[in-house]
Amino acid sequence: LLKAMGRRISNQLTNTDLVARLGGDEFAVLVRGRITAEEVAEVANRILAALSEPLSMGRRMVKCGGSIGVVNVPPGASSPARILTFADRALYSAKSDGRGCIRFYDADLHKQQIETRNIERALHKAIENDEFVLHFQPKVSASTRTVVGREALIRWDRPNIGLVSPDEFIPLAEQSMLICDIGRWTIYAACDAASRWSGGESVAVNLSARQLLDPDIVHHVKMALQQSRLDPARFELEITETAIINNTQLATSILLDLKALGIKISLDDFGTGYSSMSYIQEFPFDRIKIDRSFVMSMNANVKSRAIVEAIIHLAHSLNIPVVAEGVETEDQAEALALLSCEELQGYLIAAPAPFEDMMARVMADSLLFESESA
Ligand code: C2E
Ligand code: CA
Ligand code: CA
Repeated sequence: LLKAMGRRISNQLTNTDLVARLGGDEFAVLVRGRITAEEVAEVANRILAALSEPLSMGRRMVKCGGSIGVVNVPPGASSPARILTFADRALYSAKSDGRGCIRFYDADLHKQQIETRNIERALHKAIENDEFVLHFQPKVSASTRTVVGREALIRWDRPNIGLVSPDEFIPLAEQSMLICDIGRWTIYAACDAASRWSGGESVAVNLSARQLLDPDIVHHVKMALQQSRLDPARFELEITETAIINNTQLATSILLDLKALGIKISLDDFGTGYSSMSYIQEFPFDRIKIDRSFVMSMNANVKSRAIVEAIIHLAHSLNIPVVAEGVETEDQAEALALLSCEELQGYLIAAPAPFEDMMARVMADSLLFESESA
């Protein structure tokens, strides 16, 4: 297959050009001569078109494709390794734009790469300097509205910049082992916080795909529970479908080891990934969380509502309780309660807040409760 792909690429080139296989399914093409960006783009488009033609392999037809990163080599450039690095970054960016894309290494990409590298370096220091904080968002029972648990959501208190949202640094950390260090910190910090709550509410921590494949994860959860003396039944891990699907067997075996510690496992963002019925059947999830995209439009869009209903029915027929995320209005909360959704989470109840604010709120609520019952 790789030979055939190489041949298809070289068919699009002139005889002064060069094509080489760098390893795996990666090829390098050197287009020589003074040519414009438009001409390069034309060659790249021809290569993509040739690669996506179906290919017969014995009796089977296979369909491939490609992504292309282009770098302009200035006259007199002396470092091939550097040029390959730039091409590689352009390729990486093309891949993240979707299938079959072409991306040139330009000033914007260069700036973006520098910024990414700066964040990466700062993230390394952030761990050493203890710059992460956890905010907590409550989950309530849909019928009584009492708090049953809290989800720990990480923020980065970046010096001179302020609080950085996880969406801005978690995906970056996930590209390296940094996510395991950050994730470990979160587990210990969340257990420690929950052990200081007055009630028996649970604490939930988000786990990245990469962490799930780290065999040390079981050890760290165990240690965090021991050190904080938190009852394992009060600790929950939230994982997404994508995390499981990429390596179902290993993920399932680690999840079972985690569950054997006595903790709970929730399936996060349900409905946005593959929603494969096989692993829901295979793995005993303790909770399914409906993604907020469906909840937010459930009263305005009949299709979203149908999906919410279907997820609740599916979960209940498997005896799994459901949490609705992103509940922002009373109408949504009522509709969800009518559908027998067990738990609610969202701005209607409370936005994520720092530990101290959350504790102050808990105190205020219990004082209110005392004065009401007096
Ligand atoms: P998530 O696990 O789906 O968390 C829910 C996100 O929705 C949170 O965003 C929360 O602030 C937001 N949210 C909650 N209620 C509402 C609502 O009513 N309306 C709207 N519009 N949004 C609501 P946040 O805190 O920015 O976290 C974003 C994502 O970052 C999380 O999505 C989670 O995937 C990831 N994340 C957060 N903390 C960690 C962590 O410690 N480790 C890992 N691996 N990922 C984390
Ligand atoms: Ca979550
Ligand atoms: Ca979620």
